This record gives sequence, C-alpha cells and structure tokens, in this order.
Amino acid sequence: MKLSELQATLRALDASPTKSLGQNFLHDRNLAEWIVSRLELTSGERWLEIGPGLGSLTCIAQEHSKNGILIEKDDRLIGFLGTQFPSLQVVHGDACRFDTRELMAGGPIKIFGNLPYYVSSQIIFNFTAAFSPARVLLFTLQKELAERFASTPNCKDYGSPTVLIGRRWRVEILRTLPGSVFLPAPKVESSVVLMTPREAGEFPDCDDKRFCALVKLGFSQRRKQLGKLLEPLLPAWTHAAADLKIPTTARAEALTIRQWCELAAWTPQGPAIVSGIVGQDVHGETFDIVDDEDRIIGQTSRYEVHKQGLRHRAVHIFVLNESDELFLQKRSRWKDVCPLKWDSSAAGHVNAGQDYEPTALRELEEELGIKASVRSISKITPCEETGHEFVVLFEAHHSGPFDLPPSEIEYGEWFTLSQICEWTSRRPEDFAPGFLKCWDVWRRSRAKP
Ligand code: SAM
Repeated sequence: MKLSELQATLRALDASPTKSLGQNFLHDRNLAEWIVSRLELTSGERWLEIGPGLGSLTCIAQEHSKNGILIEKDDRLIGFLGTQFPSLQVVHGDACRFDTRELMAGGPIKIFGNLPYYVSSQIIFNFTAAFSPARVLLFTLQKELAERFASTPNCKDYGSPTVLIGRRWRVEILRTLPGSVFLPAPKVESSVVLMTPREAGEFPDCDDKRFCALVKLGFSQRRKQLGKLLEPLLPAWTHAAADLKIPTTARAEALTIRQWCELAAWTPQGPAIVSGIVGQDVHGETFDIVDDEDRIIGQTSRYEVHKQGLRHRAVHIFVLNESDELFLQKRSRWKDVCPLKWDSSAAGHVNAGQDYEPTALRELEEELGIKASVRSISKITPCEETGHEFVVLFEAHHSGPFDLPPSEIEYGEWFTLSQICEWTSRRPEDFAPGFLKCWDVWRRSRAKP
C-alpha cells in the first residue's frame, strides 16, 4: 500500500493510528512484497498474519494463497478487513492470548506479521509453544529485540529469550528497516526476523520444564556465577560442570544453547538421556500372549510379539483435568512404533504376569510421574489399529503438572475435547492409530446416558 492509500483508508475509517496498539503501518509496497516473498507461499498454503492493520502485507499474501487467517486486536479495523479480504478468516482478538491449540487441526502453517512493539515478545512466545504447528515464523520487530533473539554467547544481547527460543528455533535477521517506511514513523529501526524449526536431535533432549527453570534462574542475575545461582535446582554444580567441561566460575551468558540443554539433561549418574534409541529394550521385555478370549496361552519377547503380530495386552489412560481437557502426549522420536504421533495421556504394554489395572497405575507413574486412581472405561478387542492388542481403556482425573521422560515423550499438552474432535477428523495422520480407536470408544461411552 502506498502512503496516499493508507492515509485515504484511515480517513474513510475515520481513524488515526493508535500508539497504545503499536500501530505503525507499512507504506512501502516493494518492501511488503519482499517480506511476503520470504515466506515462499504456494497456492492454497495455510498462513496466519498477526496484526494485519490496514492490510499492507495481507493483500500481497492473499495473491499467493487465500488460505489465510488474520488476528487483529483493533475493533475499528475488523469490519474493514472482513470486507477487504472476504476469503480470509478474520479473528478479532489479542494475539498474546490466542489459543494456538486451535491451529493444530489445520496442520502446518506459516505465521508472519509486522508486530506491535509493545507485545512482540509475548506474541513470539505464544506462537512458538513446544507443540506449535508453525512451519516458519517471519516477524518485523524492533531492532534491539531482534538482536536479542538472534544473539550468541558472551554478547550483551544474549539472554534467556535467546536460549529459550533458540532451543527449538533457528533465528536469522534478514534485514533492517528504517522508521521512515511506516506511518507514523517510529523513532527506532526495525528488523525482519526469520525463525525456522530446528531439526529434531540438533540439541540433546532434555525435560522442557527443567530447561526453562534453569535458564530463567541462570539469567536472573547475569553477573553472578552459575554455581551459586543454580544451587536450588542443581546443588551438584561442580560435578555437573566438570562432566560437561564448563568452567565452574561460568556465568549464564557464557553457555551455548547446547550446554544449557546438556545441563538440563545432566544427572549425577550421567546424562538423563542421550540421543539415540533408548528405553526400547525390544528383546528384554516379555509379554503374555493371549487367545481371542484374552486367555493367556504363552509368553514371548516384545520383539517376537510385534514381528509375528501375536495377540497381547495393553492399556491406554485418558487423563482429564478439572476443565475437562484431555492431556495428549506426543510420542518420542525414538519410539519403535508411531514415533512423533500424538497419543493417549499414557499407554503401555501389560508385562508378563501383570494385570491391566496395575499396568495403568504403573504407566501413570512412569510416563507422567503421578499417582492417581483409574476407572476402567472399556475393553477393546484386538484389531489392526490396536496393533493386535487387547486394550483396556482407563480414565483418570489429575490437573498436573507432569514429569515427562524425554526418552518416551516428546512433549505433552492439554486440549479441549472439541479441539481434539476437529483435529482427529481433519488430520487423523497426526495420531497413533491406537489412540484414534480409544478416542472413538471413549466418546461413545461418554455419549451414553
Ligand atoms: N501489518 C500492518 C502493517 O504492516 O502495516 C500493521 C502493523 S502494526 C505495527 C501492528 C498491528 O498489530 C496493528 O494493526 C495493531 O492494531 C495490531 N495489534 C496490536 N496489538 C495487537 C494484539 N495484541 N493482537 C493482535 N493484533 C494487535
């Protein structure tokens, strides 16, 4: 949009840019085209723009694909956006609070925006949640903030945002923009930042919660040495530092993102996990084999059970919180079956000589780190979806927090039942088949009076 067009639109709307909404509208069409071109949108590809304003980027993005969503907070602009872009979905709301779980059902998505400066960080943290379906994020930010996200160790800008975001996202500053390309012109410069997901396994796995807690504590007093600062969470600092070859006098800003991951994964017995197939002792575990009436007819190794497709036993547990949301886990990439698929809150095989309910209680402890009572919902007879297992489905009630073993679970999240309904029907390929079967059975059991 040209400056004269922006001014005419504002006049027609009887509106002027609002400082408290961080409104600086881009009036350089070439620049807008260049920004959108960095998204490499293909026809029909899904995208989401945060803070479209008067549509400087929107009008170009929709020329590439009409499969777009706009999130705008300013109520004066909602009607205008709806009329101007009738084929796009316009959401009137605050991007800091937007429920990103709603995006899962639509699959991978490209997210971009010239962000309002006053809430850029909150918006970025919201859209880069661990389960984010973002395939790429492209944001225009205040230059100083961009430099913080893209910084490297031992630089003044290197801080907890760099490490927290950098663990999952590669951040690249593409170019710097002068204030003069916006109406009104801000006094500061802006930078266009591209964020792409890091490859799985690029950094050592570690527990999300522990990683965030250590990083936040470590950077809470930048000039203080980590040994003292991290003591409440890592009393064995000297031992950890020696193992990880970190000087014992190090400060937070000296540690690379990899070292922060290693620190979070460290235990006195060695790293909590290592990248590679772990916890999948396919020959060591023994299962009962059962007939079509679920009577035990023998025992063999997990390996043979799966290789020969022998009938065996398993449990799935659906854990619900007080808001009636269901906790789903994303299976670890190291799993031999259905890696990286979304699955029940907890699930596992019944070991030889064990029964269903004790197995469910054990799985809750092993996979979520909780003790909770379980209620049996249904027994599902073996079929292809259950991998030839008899599955007993249990329900439990607990609101977390959970302690997830990173070798088993990539991460977990609560979802509303309607989010899961839409997601499973639109993208069944995101889920382990055993979960889909359990979900179907569980919903039907709920629908019964
Ligand atoms: N994209 C437009 C452009 O480049 O001309 C506008 C960019 S302007 C810097 C920021 C936009 O974000 C404004 O339209 C403003 O109303 C909107 N905005 C401000 N706070 C917001 C929030 N919390 N959630 C969503 N949009 C917001």
